[in-house]
Amino acid sequence: MAAGALLRAAKYLYLHRPMAFIPAIEQKKLSEQADFQWEKLGPALVYLQQHSPFYKRLFRQHQFDPKALRSWQDFNELPTTSKEDLQRYNTDFLCVAPRAIREYVATSGTLGRPVSIALTQNDLLRLAYNEYLSFHCIGATEHDIFQLMLTLDRQFMAGVAYYSGLSLLGAASVRTGPGLPAMQWDTIRQLNTTGLVAVPSFLPKMIAEAEASGFSANDTTVKKVLAIGESLRDDQLRPNALAQQITRDWNIQLYGTYAATELQTAFTECSAGKGGHHHPELIIAELLDDSGQPVIPGEQGELTITTLGVEGMPLLRYRTGDICRGYYEPCSCGRHTMRLGPVLGRKQQMIKFKGTSLYPPAIFDTLNSIPAIREYVVEVSTGADEQDQVSLYLYSDMDPASCNELLHPVFRHKWRVIPHIHYCSAEEIRQLQFPNHNRKPVKFIDHRTLF
Ligand SMILES: [Zn+2]
Repeated sequence: MAAGALLRAAKYLYLHRPMAFIPAIEQKKLSEQADFQWEKLGPALVYLQQHSPFYKRLFRQHQFDPKALRSWQDFNELPTTSKEDLQRYNTDFLCVAPRAIREYVATSGTLGRPVSIALTQNDLLRLAYNEYLSFHCIGATEHDIFQLMLTLDRQFMAGVAYYSGLSLLGAASVRTGPGLPAMQWDTIRQLNTTGLVAVPSFLPKMIAEAEASGFSANDTTVKKVLAIGESLRDDQLRPNALAQQITRDWNIQLYGTYAATELQTAFTECSAGKGGHHHPELIIAELLDDSGQPVIPGEQGELTITTLGVEGMPLLRYRTGDICRGYYEPCSCGRHTMRLGPVLGRKQQMIKFKGTSLYPPAIFDTLNSIPAIREYVVEVSTGADEQDQVSLYLYSDMDPASCNELLHPVFRHKWRVIPHIHYCSAEEIRQLQFPNHNRKPVKFIDHRTLF
């Protein structure tokens, strides 16, 4: 969206606070959405050529003139941008003078060195509009009170995005941050919080805390959760073990959302729960195979994005490393946009485990389905035979012998092999999950030799 259009949209939202605002383009056919994006693409490429040192150089190297772009086929042949490019040439992606920057955020740095992203005033407004659309997708209204159970400082973009999106919606925010369950419940019961923005694996701890304190989570005012950072669904869009565990004990609506700092855009589920909705006015989304070609619709591919309307650090064909599927049939909520399925894994994290290929989230899902496992870390390394070796570090209430007896048949059934299992104390697992005071728990450690 152009700056002026965004400002008008924000002003409109503030003045009218419509209860059912689905942007017109999201209700159009996919082919019309593609035409709409085509109109935005040309000026976006010209902007990159004029203002981005990185893309100016890249276009010159490839002898590419944005004005010569004739078709989506031409677009598919443009070079992609990798996370390494963004790390290595970070400041070359900046398209504005330093005085135009209103905020610097950083990626969490789970893989490699953190990347700095600079946002202008318009980018912050775009971010708010984007999360406004997300909250609207999950049926939130101006009457809601959302508790933000996540980091709002430490250069974390998501916290600011949710906060400003809720503000644009007219709903109230409560910035509790990622505190202890008892404190979260105290605030919920004091303010009658209606929604949470939280990491879903924290919710079983909330349920347990309520039970221990003599009340039921079901008897509170919380009715919906925007679940961040972890998938809620399996490859067939069915609720995964974690989602099942939560909703078995707590009658709440869980809505998944996918976002990454570099994208400055989220894909959030509506109540149909059929994947996160794409917002064509904010981002071009492609799913590419290993050779960089678009996958057949419905196949899994690497999400590759081009931002629209970003001024500070726009990206062209940026490969996120996240493997997902797209869903293209119109949604029952009235939006006709593509929906993004759960992240099946990160491209470079694929594990070849004794003839089976799988991504860490599939291992997490199995571990989450076993109540005896309280916490875990999955580690993969290269064995003497140059094959991937998987080790599990587990914290369980059961004694190791009984736990092994329970786990071995499950692992044999799911993966045909049994990984190395190490039992840890609560403190040991905490140290593994939070090295260097990480913002998010580490659940996967990759020690493989990269060739
Ligand atoms: Zn929908």
